[in-house]
Order: sequence, then structure tokens, then C-alpha cells
Amino acid sequence: MDHPRADRFLLVSIDSWRYDALGRTNPELNTPKFDHLTRDYGLAERFFVTAPATRPSHASLFTGLYPFEHGLFGQTYLKMFGGIPNLFQLLSEAGYAVTARSERPEVFRFLDFEPFIRPFDPSADHQHLGSLEQLIAALREPETGPRFCFLHFWYTHGGYGMGGIPGAPDLKELVGDGRAEEALRFYYAATTHVLEFVLVEILKQLSLDRWAIFIFGDHGEGFCPEVMSHGDCLHENVVRVPLLAHVPGLGGVNFPAGPSSMIDLYPTIARLAGLPLDYEGYGRDLLAPSPTARSKRWVLTELDSLYGVGFLHPGNLQTAHQRVTSRIAIDDAELARSKGGTRMWSISDGREFYRQQERSGDFVLRNVVTGQPLPCPDPDLYRNAYRDILHGSRYRDQQVQESSSAEERVLEERLRDLGYIE
Ligand SMILES: [Zn+2]
Repeated sequence: MDHPRADRFLLVSIDSWRYDALGRTNPELNTPKFDHLTRDYGLAERFFVTAPATRPSHASLFTGLYPFEHGLFGQTYLKMFGGIPNLFQLLSEAGYAVTARSERPEVFRFLDFEPFIRPFDPSADHQHLGSLEQLIAALREPETGPRFCFLHFWYTHGGYGMGGIPGAPDLKELVGDGRAEEALRFYYAATTHVLEFVLVEILKQLSLDRWAIFIFGDHGEGFCPEVMSHGDCLHENVVRVPLLAHVPGLGGVNFPAGPSSMIDLYPTIARLAGLPLDYEGYGRDLLAPSPTARSKRWVLTELDSLYGVGFLHPGNLQTAHQRVTSRIAIDDAELARSKGGTRMWSISDGREFYRQQERSGDFVLRNVVTGQPLPCPDPDLYRNAYRDILHGSRYRDQQVQESSSAEERVLEERLRDLGYIE
């Protein structure tokens, strides 16, 4: 069978959307219209993000590369490595009309694809109160020609739409008190709002005969004692998210067995669009026929909080672009290190979740679906899989191009921690 083709794409990123915040996986979620509209979409049951934070995760989405390859090691890194193609640029050069909107466009500041992403409603002070009608009109125009659209919902991010509600409960406290179910009701309500009351209005405007549609989380959300939100720890609630996909002519996508990753969307979309692609990353075309003896695959998630986990503050948002002199420096001065800053990584084959602290070597092994701890007599199995990914990358030379001495120091530290150099 020929590879399917499409020339209209809608990518919907729902911030902090975890695997159980979907009617198909959790019947308690009351989203009958959304469930009906997406009933023929394929659901990837083992889909993993590359990072537990918005910026590095989206950088992977649009480049098909892991954080160690695209350079945005963590949320507070300022820029990506230079010269990496991204989907916005490639598709717009190929003649696609691009419409990209976010409820929090500032979060993409300094990234290569930032210029493409605008607010949902430029005239609204609070994006979730903006005009949905204008957004839908923007998605529908122009009526002819190839289209690439991206929407990023922020309403589901920490706060969950509770800002300004007097006496709203502190959800972290609730979780700490063992009342996670109660706290989750607020999170599920925010998700329901996005899926059932906003996204439904958008999806029902688009003909499934013409549009390829991908709906996914950029990372999950913890709501457990080990991690409340997302950016500071790798956890099965954070690294595994839903991915729903519809492709014209195919209907629901039959996802390959085994794990898939955020980096897979880049080659999948490029192939669907028929773009000539110079890509040597680990991402796999999700629509390619599965080889009968597919080799075992591990997918990687990386966390780096050396400079903290928060990005949205005036020190970044009000800093002129030209003052960012490297990935980790403003005016040639290295960013302040965060006291509790750390690096950790996890890998999964879709069944197991192995996580390791880079410096201490402390690790856990769990069932990625149930979270149950598993015996781990041989952690080297997982460490070797991780090293194979690092060593096998065709993008390792990106790291060598680094210019500033501060960056070289950080890279050197990283390589030392990994045991590459003494
Ligand atoms: Zn996010």
C-alpha cells in the first residue's frame, strides 16, 4: 500500500494532559461530545514525551530530536542548538499556510519556532477568555491550499483555571493529605473544559476527509506524593501521555506495538506531507508498516533543572532577544544555577519505566502502567540502553559546535557525569 498523504494538518497540544484525563481511558471523565467526535481516532497507548516540561517537549515535537540533540536540555535553557530544521519552517517553505496559536505563547520565547506562534486571541488579556469564533475563522482560512495548524492549550496547566476563585483549595496540600482523588477533580474539570467545550467546537468544523489531526499532551501531571506537577521529577504519570490521531484515508491510526515518542511526529508528518527529509534522528514514522521482527525499542525522557524549572518570569520575558548570547547566558553571563538543580533520565519500552539520577546513580524500576515497583537485579541493562541512545545519535556533533566557555563547562560536566571523560 502506498504511504498515505495529507496536506492539511492540525496539531493540538494540551498542556499537562496525562493519560487518564481522557474518556476512553477513564470513564469518569464526562466528555461525550469529544469522545464521539474522536471515536475513530487511533489512540497510542504507549506514547512518551521526551521531557517533563513545555519548552523541551515542544522542541522535540517540532524537530524530531531528543533534548540532548536539539540543545534545550531543560525548561530554563534559553535556546536550541543552531541550524536545526523545524516543522514550521520546513512546511512554510514548502508552501503551507501556517497558523499557530497558544494560550501562553510567551513560553516559547527564544526558541527557533517562536515567531510562528501567536496568541489565541491577540485582543484578549486572558487567553482563555478570548474569542473562539475568531480562532476558528483563522483555522479555516485560507480555504484552499496546504495548511499546517498548531494549537496549544494552557488552561490545563498548573492552576487549572482556578485563579481568582476565592478560597480555592491548595491542591498540593490535598495530595499531601492523601486526598489526591479530590484534587484530581479540579484537574479533570480543566481538561473537560478544554476537550468538551473548546476543542469540540474546533474539531467539528474540520472535515475528516481532508485534515490529519494529532491531539496529545506535552507531558503529564503528577498528583502524587512523589511529584505534584511535572517539571521537577520523572514519573510514570508525567512521561506517558495520550496521543489521538486521525489521518484522511486511514481513519484511526493503528499505532505500532511497543512505545512511541514525541519525536515520532516529525518524521510522520513530514512523510505524510511528502517533504524530502534530511533526518537521522531516532523518531519513527508511525504510519510505516511494522517490520515483522521489529527490534526492541527504548524511548528516552530527559530532565535537566540545573537552572531551575520556571521559565515564565520577567527576567526572561522582558529580556531582548539579542541579549541572549548562548543557550545558557544573557549578556555573556551564565544564568544563575538552581540550588536543587538536578539531571535525571528515564527510558521505557512501553512496559517498564526505569529512572536514574545522573549524578548519584540512584534508580527506580516500575511497571509504567500501574506504577508498581519491579525488582531490578541488573540496572546495567537500562544504563546500556541509555548509553546506546547517546552514543548512537547522529547529532552528537551539534554539541561540539558550542561556543561560549560557560556552555563548554556545562557540557563537560554532563559528559563527566555520564562517565565519558575522567
Ligand atoms: Zn507543558
